[in-house]
Amino acid sequence: MPKREFSILKLITVPLITFVCLIGIVGWIVAPHCACSDADVVAADVADEAVTPTPINVTDAAPARNIRITYVTESKGFKHGVLPESEKIMQSLGAQNNFDVTISQESAKVITAENLKNVDVLIFYTTGELPWSDEQKKLFLDFVRNGKGFIGIHSATDTFYKWPEYGELIGGYFDGHPWGSNDKVVVQKVDKKFSVTKHWDDLFTWVEETYQYKNFNFKENKVLMSLDAQPTKMDMTKKGIKGIHAVEGNPNIKPDSFPLVWYRTYGKGRIFYSEPGHNSSVWNNPKYQTMLVNAIKWTAKKMK
Ligand SMILES: [Zn+2]
Repeated sequence: MPKREFSILKLITVPLITFVCLIGIVGWIVAPHCACSDADVVAADVADEAVTPTPINVTDAAPARNIRITYVTESKGFKHGVLPESEKIMQSLGAQNNFDVTISQESAKVITAENLKNVDVLIFYTTGELPWSDEQKKLFLDFVRNGKGFIGIHSATDTFYKWPEYGELIGGYFDGHPWGSNDKVVVQKVDKKFSVTKHWDDLFTWVEETYQYKNFNFKENKVLMSLDAQPTKMDMTKKGIKGIHAVEGNPNIKPDSFPLVWYRTYGKGRIFYSEPGHNSSVWNNPKYQTMLVNAIKWTAKKMK
């Protein structure tokens, strides 16, 4: 080969080989990254599939979490003398039954989105118009509607008269107590099967302030116990007795015409209400305490 021809060939081939080599090197550098990315994605998918069952197993194995209750005893109207004692009893019932109990006299601090995440059951022994914003009212309704529990005790129906949705949720408003705290009343167990209250005697007498109701929701409320207005030796001529609580259109007084204890559902949530709770003797009644414990478990969906 002549020398000149060789030089021309060299001039062409050397840059060409260099270019091809560069492409190869660049390709080698880039290729592993691309492959690695794909591999990562695949690995993540596999990992997801492999990991998914684990939390379920962990949850199954973990001990049951305590029911978290917040007991609100804020009085914007009448202040019941039994409240401090009721708080101690609630703490004691919590300790005996593995409930995490929080007590508050400031409901506005309880009703926040962040706090309600850590509450299973709200229990109110309140009076009057509690100082909540519209947003807090919505939070409360959503709390129950989305599946949490609410228990009203005694004057919880003497609360939020200016907020009809609350009255609708709890099932009625206080409408006087013809039977005062020193009056003996006869109480009847209307529903003999319901888990929360079936431990009560069918008929018994105690001394307790006893309400009657207006705006009572006969359609939704399932009455468990009532003031027994029929066989009773009770004085039914007392001032203030209205006897208007029969089902609309039926003027006859029915056994549940003076309801005292009821339950209902609201959306996915459960609601329980106990009118009894004015007197210390009632709070110290073991059957009353059993009813509260059962009501907490039932509203927390830990009891059928
Ligand atoms: Zn009272």
